[in-house]
Amino acid sequence: MLVLVVNAGSSSLKSQLIETEGKITRMKCLAEKLGSANASMAISFAPDFKKAVYSVANLSVSQCLRKLLDIMEEEPDSPISGLDQIDAIGNRIVAGGEYFTKATLIDAGARENLAKCEELAPLHNPPADTCIDMLRELLPNTPQVAVFDTAFHATMPKKAYMYPLPMEYYEKYHIRRYGAHGTSHRYAAQQAANLLGRPLRDLGLITCHLGNGGSITAVNHGRSIDTTMGFTPLEGLMMGTRSGSIDPAIITYIMREEGKTFDEMDAILNRQSGVLGISGMSSDMRDVLDAASKGDERANLAIDMYVYRVQKAIGSYYAAMTRTDAVVMTAGIGENSADLRERIFAGLAHMGMILDKERNDVTGQIGMNRVISIDDSPIKICVVTTDEEMRIARETDNLISQL
Ligand code: ADP
Repeated sequence: MLVLVVNAGSSSLKSQLIETEGKITRMKCLAEKLGSANASMAISFAPDFKKAVYSVANLSVSQCLRKLLDIMEEEPDSPISGLDQIDAIGNRIVAGGEYFTKATLIDAGARENLAKCEELAPLHNPPADTCIDMLRELLPNTPQVAVFDTAFHATMPKKAYMYPLPMEYYEKYHIRRYGAHGTSHRYAAQQAANLLGRPLRDLGLITCHLGNGGSITAVNHGRSIDTTMGFTPLEGLMMGTRSGSIDPAIITYIMREEGKTFDEMDAILNRQSGVLGISGMSSDMRDVLDAASKGDERANLAIDMYVYRVQKAIGSYYAAMTRTDAVVMTAGIGENSADLRERIFAGLAHMGMILDKERNDVTGQIGMNRVISIDDSPIKICVVTTDEEMRIARETDNLISQL
């Protein structure tokens, strides 16, 4: 089955065309800074994936997707000559609320419920919905599936997903923990089980998705039992530009002292905080590590805080589970930064998570799943490469094939 995967972000678009039978990627696209004058879109086709870069200045996410489809129809290297060759579309949706607990075919009813989830991920869900609408109009006969970041966390017990607020807010507004990055946590857990050569249902795993956004999940016997992201992707770890968990009273205090509006406060917490807010220079961990190595104090503080919060989250999930077999690192920082992994696990050896410095440092093997703890570490440490698009394509194929 040829599946077009659409992963729409607030100002980015990731897309792949995937042949699910052989798990073969035929086209990759990454568009960034959408909505601005210097937005660009890089597209590459199998087999050599040589990138061609297009300007997509001032285009919205769905307009950019439309342009990608035009290019796929016209480019001689493209694996398709007409859009009718696409068998199905898999859309990544950040928040599915309590409406969606598994991948779902998008019919009129599902589309209505998707609209109700928009306020749960106001940066991500609306552009994804706009892409779905554009595709439904353009390709009315091509089935579309929504794959939710929240779905994997539907197994959390009530004590983990409820907030200690007056009950009426749960009843009226469904305010509860939903989590995110579920597709990645599920995939990372399965990959770790494969690496350890044991069935996922026998394992207790702590999966760490550390990218621009970041979350950690306790995966007990293959099921998510708790995760650091909450009602929205703002809770939990310190992230590139998001504060993660802070004392909620700080929010009302700043609003009162500085006369901030709700939207301004939202922007401070989501876009101006985290690694960017503390370092004052960048949300990109590579820049911050580089500055820290040159002695920049704020960059060093940002890294210390980032590492400390990851350590505390891992420790709390060690406590939440009845057994922990492995900690799994994935996404941009988790996969690529031996330096940050070393700092994180330097503080966790007393819990039985003992890094092997050489295995951790091996650069030749980047991109390969591997164990980086010492042989007799009571709890193993794994690095796995996340592949959200492949996972979405496979879930789309599974669902369509069942229909
Ligand atoms: P997203 O959440 O946008 O999908 P990614 O998973 O691609 O993000 O992660 C992006 C983050 O990973 C950035 O902070 C980037 O600096 C960081 N990163 C990527 N490679 C490295 C590396 N070699 N060392 C440190 N950080 C890295």
